[in-house]
Amino acid sequence: MPERTALPPRDAPTRTVALEYDGGDQDCGSGLLLAITSRMRRIDEGAVLLLYTNEGSVLADLPAWARLAGHDLLAVVDDTADADPGPWRLWIERGRTAPGGGDRTVASDVEYSSAAPATVGTRLWLYSNFHCNLACTYCCAASSPRADQRLMPVETAASAAAEFAQQGGRELLITGGEPFLHPDLGAFVARTAAHVPVTLLTNAMVYGRGRRREVLESFDRDRVTLQISLDSAGPQLHDRERGAGSHRRALEGIQLARELGFRVRVAATYLPEDAPAAGDLLGTLASLGVAEEDRLVRPVAQEGYAAKGVEITLDSIEPEPTLAADGAWWHPVGVTNRHLQVADTPLPLKHVFDVVRDVVAVQAANGSHGRAVFRCT
Ligand code: SF4
Repeated sequence: MPERTALPPRDAPTRTVALEYDGGDQDCGSGLLLAITSRMRRIDEGAVLLLYTNEGSVLADLPAWARLAGHDLLAVVDDTADADPGPWRLWIERGRTAPGGGDRTVASDVEYSSAAPATVGTRLWLYSNFHCNLACTYCCAASSPRADQRLMPVETAASAAAEFAQQGGRELLITGGEPFLHPDLGAFVARTAAHVPVTLLTNAMVYGRGRRREVLESFDRDRVTLQISLDSAGPQLHDRERGAGSHRRALEGIQLARELGFRVRVAATYLPEDAPAAGDLLGTLASLGVAEEDRLVRPVAQEGYAAKGVEITLDSIEPEPTLAADGAWWHPVGVTNRHLQVADTPLPLKHVFDVVRDVVAVQAANGSHGRAVFRCT
């Protein structure tokens, strides 16, 4: 059982509760911290959140979190009517905005491309949709032709981009699923790129002709960069993970995009045992004229379809705020992980950034460090 001697009184306070949240069986290391932080952001200073929990470790961990976040844990009540402890109710009074700052040590793996951590608010990810013409074995978004589409409306994307630019945002990354399957991708990209430069991630297989070719050609070359997935110089590895014939079509897509005047980045995704293939691929990309700074090698994340890969947690990975039609997440590779969900609506963006900043600040104040940068672009 957790240590409980430092907890506040066990009597239920007579305070008005502004918001209630049922944390169920979550503990502070598996998403409860994000959920509470998000809800504390929705109530006024001095107002009270009532938290329900079945998880005993929360009684040990939450007092420290509340102190670091600047909140007061007013009371804890054990609702048990028998000898077994729990469930519990906790009254938390919102204090001033959580402290900011704190150094973050960056861990990187030399096998993969690396980057400095991005300041929260400078980069923003949008999931345009979740369905895809492929169903890659390691897809972190669990995309496939049968996946729930979860289309982000153009208006949501445009509002997010406008708010992002207003707050000083610099890079907007649009991903999926396969974005070219979004029925309004032309407007989606035009309306967002009007506010901030856009990088669009694609498997480059479906825009060769017809209406999608017209959409591609409509993009502003000065505002839109394409990032195309290609895992190997030859088809063997790429087709094994992504499907027969996908390597050839990706190469054709890269060549077409370059002929149309786009800046093209190429990203390869590997498990450690497949990483030696990166050497051959980099040579191929050089011969295709893809600039060195536009060649990215990234690891598989253990999310979505991937049974193994880099573990993604709040404590281990630098945040890259990510919006989908139905919420916001800590990082784009964590969108199938409810423990990494920051908010249950994508907007307002300020709320999403504030929650992420709060968590980073609390972690920094708590002495946590060593998060790695997991860059998808
Ligand atoms: S990894 Fe990309 S191309 Fe493959 S299924 Fe997922 S979204 Fe589609």
